[in-house]
Amino acid sequence: MKKLVIVVPAYNEEESLPKSLDVLSDVLKDMVKEKKIDEDSKLVIVNDGSKDKTWSIIEEAAKKNTHISGINFSRNFGHQNAVIGGLTAARPYGDVFITIDADLQDDVNAIPKMVDEYLNGYDVVYGVRSARATDTRFKRWTAEGFYALMNKIGVEMIPDAADFRLTSGRVVDELLKYKERNLFLRGLIPKIGFPSTKVYYARKERELGESKYPLRKMLALAWNGITSFSVAPMHFVLGLGVLTILISFGMMVYSAVQYFLGHAIAGWSSIMVSIWFLGGIQLIGLSIMGEYLGKVFNEAKGRPRFIIQDNLLKDKK
Ligand code: UDP
Ligand code: MG
Repeated sequence: MKKLVIVVPAYNEEESLPKSLDVLSDVLKDMVKEKKIDEDSKLVIVNDGSKDKTWSIIEEAAKKNTHISGINFSRNFGHQNAVIGGLTAARPYGDVFITIDADLQDDVNAIPKMVDEYLNGYDVVYGVRSARATDTRFKRWTAEGFYALMNKIGVEMIPDAADFRLTSGRVVDELLKYKERNLFLRGLIPKIGFPSTKVYYARKERELGESKYPLRKMLALAWNGITSFSVAPMHFVLGLGVLTILISFGMMVYSAVQYFLGHAIAGWSSIMVSIWFLGGIQLIGLSIMGEYLGKVFNEAKGRPRFIIQDNLLKDKK
């Protein structure tokens, strides 16, 4: 039978984790009872440098419940790195993997359905939200805009699929070959290929604790998604530059005509306007170039994406 590992990133989740651990381990036990998965299946909680009691909760739970294990990062590395860190550490212990957030906003009833699809032969099962009723209008609106934009600039993404998904061992093996530091898993997984399908569920509101994703982190993730997968912003600036040059040709002709008609007056205003306009365009262009340069810089350094301080998986074996 196949061993399932559920990977859960957790950052300052002391409020929601105790309940989430109970719920998830019940889901796991039920599937073991139904002989869907091996009894050696696990929950691996990744403590992403929490400042609260998250890690001691994980350690305690691991002592009491043989299904629960965890890894402890040396500091906060961010959600995406916590997921990849969990998958890296857990890979030797499982055949199939599910990632889910610690607050259980995603419906755990979708987990057995995902496993069913895996047993039907699918390597990737995306958890897709059927409704966004629980999101604020702002979040819904920005999310829709984001997916439309990503689609337009040619980044293949499954709309309304976040990081709740099942991946088979061979997909995880391929995923771990992508060595990039600017991780955007939602964009990477579709690039790996293999047979995939979707499971729909209704996303709930966070019950305990508060969101660890403030607007700042959300925008950073979206920006990372765009610039890590597409050079469209650079093309856009190129287009803007070409357009500006065309306009300046027109201006040249216009001013020559004015000159020969004897209308040439000191063109202070037009010069001021063009200086500001061109200055602005150049700054935008430079900053976008800088963005890519910064990414090259980050990738070239090849620093680790996460550092594991404690690994309960190893202790147990
Ligand atoms: N998370 C993490 N590291 C971080 C921020 C968040 O591991 O730096 C985890 C968090 O504990 C949760 C998941 O990522 O399990 C998603 O975060 P959250 O639920 O706060 O985001 P939201 O659902 O509000 O978008
Ligand atoms: Mg959440």
